[in-house]
Amino acid sequence: MSEKIFIGVAWPYANGELHLGQIAGAYLPPDIFARYHRAKGNEVLMVSGSDQHGTPITIKAEQEGVKPAEIAARYHKLFLESWQKLGISFDLFTTTGTANHAEVTQDIFLTLLKKDYIYRDIVSQSFCPQCQRFLADRYIEGTCPYCYSTGARGDQCEACGKPLNPAELIDPHCRICGTPPVFKDTEHFFLKLSAFNDKLLKWVKQQTHWRPNVLNFTTRYLEDGLKDRAITRDIKWGIPVPVKGYENKRIYVWFEAVIGYLSAAKEWAKSSGDEEKWRSFWQDEKTKSYYFIGKDNIPFHTLIWPAMLTGYGDLNLPYDVPANEFLTIEGRKLSTSHNWAVWLLDYLSRYDPDPLRYLLSINMPETADTDFSWREFVRRNNDELVATYGNLAHRVLTFTYRNFNNRVPEPGELDQQDKKILDSARDTLAAVDRLLYGCHFREAIRNAMSLAQAANRYLDEKSPWKVIKEDRQAAANSLYVTLAVISYLKTMLYPFLPFSSQKLHQLLGFKGNVADHGWQPQPPPPGQKLPPPEPLFSKLDDSLIEAETKRLGHGPG
Ligand SMILES: [Zn+2]
Ligand SMILES: [Zn+2]
Repeated sequence: MSEKIFIGVAWPYANGELHLGQIAGAYLPPDIFARYHRAKGNEVLMVSGSDQHGTPITIKAEQEGVKPAEIAARYHKLFLESWQKLGISFDLFTTTGTANHAEVTQDIFLTLLKKDYIYRDIVSQSFCPQCQRFLADRYIEGTCPYCYSTGARGDQCEACGKPLNPAELIDPHCRICGTPPVFKDTEHFFLKLSAFNDKLLKWVKQQTHWRPNVLNFTTRYLEDGLKDRAITRDIKWGIPVPVKGYENKRIYVWFEAVIGYLSAAKEWAKSSGDEEKWRSFWQDEKTKSYYFIGKDNIPFHTLIWPAMLTGYGDLNLPYDVPANEFLTIEGRKLSTSHNWAVWLLDYLSRYDPDPLRYLLSINMPETADTDFSWREFVRRNNDELVATYGNLAHRVLTFTYRNFNNRVPEPGELDQQDKKILDSARDTLAAVDRLLYGCHFREAIRNAMSLAQAANRYLDEKSPWKVIKEDRQAAANSLYVTLAVISYLKTMLYPFLPFSSQKLHQLLGFKGNVADHGWQPQPPPPGQKLPPPEPLFSKLDDSLIEAETKRLGHGPG
């Protein structure tokens, strides 16, 4: 029986390029998960899109003298290019700028309003008399009342880390023009999150399969009590409030971006030709919904989105939210403003996708922060991908090609050692299956690489290149067994390393797409013709470590 899996992936904000922190945190894990489930024959819908509303984009647009839509379109295009080059296999990657998204958002807004989960209230908000606009907290700057450093933001002081509110700042001024703000009353719509507190707490306590960090964080939040939050703002860029008299207000990005998961599913259904198809991923209780995000996004996906879904009714709540911790770069906290980051497209302009996918998988920040360093990148590529896995495949393919008339040899009777490594390959495939099913990506790829190591030892002990002189059948046996094991490896490593798995699939003489062959043992049939062998991976030179490390922290972010 095939399963239905909905995969929601964090919506990247369309005012900057993607960096490795985001890839390790939120984009690579769902791709591994989607590829695994598709190979298993399950029905998968994986969606996301660019988040293109909100103040930072309007400010960037003003600085450049262009329209906000132009900024959003520029980064959307770069996101699409990034997914294609890194092999992130979305079923749909759309944007929050579509008419469909506005329609779905306004429907949810009006339904929650009708059910009294949204209400109006007057708030006093900072307003810049020079710019003639209300200022979000982080657009007010001043001197920190705790550490007296200048340039502290209205929401937090970056120097001492203390959370602030704008009224506490000494000498507050507008970040854009420098004018001191005034406070003005304005009416806004609020989401009555407090109404969902008890229901959510009961629900969250049942989610014992969640990662401990996600579960603990969410429970603490609920035990402190959810506070109602404003969901509209006085800006012009965004989705209009669908209520008469509020034409100058827009729906807050945090409220509408999460709705993208639902609107994208509807858009996907429309473009598939069956408009109702989204329902099986949202209303079938057997469908499991997974949300892949970084840890800074947890409350939006374990509290606010579930509250909105509960209030609206008849839509599936998240089954799991496997949020990742952070990736540091060369031992330091990643910072885009100081350009202490590795940019994805810049990486892909010089290196292949699979070595990066490998490193970020085997070192995934699943339960604690992990570090990316160029030294480790080179070491893992050269020692693990090239010397362990790639070399195993290349040795056996080359020797077979030359000595067995470029065909998979016919095995005779297998001995204990042959059977042992084949059993171990079968067990590893089952273990990787279980681990991937539970979103334990790091452990899964580590298991696969242990099998590659064991297969190398097996091949060294069997030494077909020595044995062939006196016992051709014994050599044929060990070559056949090793070819079978690398075929297992290409299947279990496919979700992580799709490009090299496809290549190995073809080098083993198979036709078509590796994913279409599914998640099952697939020893190559004896007699199958092999194409001329080629290495799976290339060795990287140590000199790149210094060159790449030097680039960090320099130039614009
Ligand atoms: Zn101003
Ligand atoms: Zn401070």
